[in-house]
Amino acid sequence: MYDFNYHRPHSVADAVKLFRQSDDAMYLAGGHTLIPSMKVRLRAPTDLIDLAAIPGLDGISEESGNLVIGAFTRHDAVATSEVVRRAIPALNILAGGIGDAQVRNRGTIGGSVANNDPAADYPAALLALNATVRTDRREISAAEFSTGMFETALEEDEMIQSIAFPLVEAATYVKFPNPASRYAMVGVFMVRQGGEVRVAITGAASGVFRCTDMETALAADFSASALENIKLDVHAMNDDMHASAEYRAHLCVVMAKQALSKFS
Ligand SMILES: Cc1cc2nc3c(=O)[nH]c(=O)nc-3n(C[C@H](O)[C@H](O)[C@H](O)COP(=O)(O)OP(=O)(O)OC[C@H]3O[C@@H](n4cnc5c(N)ncnc54)[C@H](O)[C@@H]3O)c2cc1C
Repeated sequence: MYDFNYHRPHSVADAVKLFRQSDDAMYLAGGHTLIPSMKVRLRAPTDLIDLAAIPGLDGISEESGNLVIGAFTRHDAVATSEVVRRAIPALNILAGGIGDAQVRNRGTIGGSVANNDPAADYPAALLALNATVRTDRREISAAEFSTGMFETALEEDEMIQSIAFPLVEAATYVKFPNPASRYAMVGVFMVRQGGEVRVAITGAASGVFRCTDMETALAADFSASALENIKLDVHAMNDDMHASAEYRAHLCVVMAKQALSKFS
């Protein structure tokens, strides 16, 4: 690891100011992606700005029709939260399935969302629930937030402060985890709201996406038989040592049927 300067500001304004004064700064949250990347020298920031001492960046609350989760909230806190269980229990399930106990006790929702790993779980929830990413300067809709593999609409020095998830009638999340890392080979977040069905898939392609073919079919007939003829574009799927593109395309439909079976 290269040398770097370590900062521990006590307010969002100070953190952003420090970022702007540094040569090549990065925010540090749980460090579960950033620190390993620095160890293998994929990242070499001159300054690390630790968000741990900033009051108010973590916490979970329900506010006017939204479940609001602070950026520094750890995965374990989401997995075990009663507020989440009453509002959107699918998020308990999602967070409880991230990595292992160590990862869940350190990793944060803000770090995960900012990192936008194509196999991460939260991006599927953001897209399917039509969440809003609240930063130190604006609000970004989930549809506009993800701009590609590990890419987001965030400006370089922009800090996520919280994520607002609109409450919905029913939602569920299922994933087929990579047996080694627990990242999603395919993860399906499904939402039912009025006559609308929203299906977001992570892990399968270069970034999270909504499967509009499934959404249309399920809006007309909310049953597994509606998915029988759905075929995902094999050329858009990831193909690696863990699974072929054909396997992942097939798995998307299998996992969508599993998600469907969770709705009572
Ligand atoms: C072994 C292992 C298994 C894992 N399994 C899974 C899994 O199954 N599913 C899954 O989804 N994830 C998984 N993860 C990732 C985990 O969820 C981490 O939480 C996530 O990678 C990053 O969160 P973090 O808080 O550790 O962020 P950090 O590593 O501290 O930061 C990650 C990036 O986000 C930026 N950042 C952090 N906070 C903010 C903020 N508030 N505003 C703007 N930018 C910010 C940082 O600058 C950095 O670029 C796994 C990780 C490991 C090591």
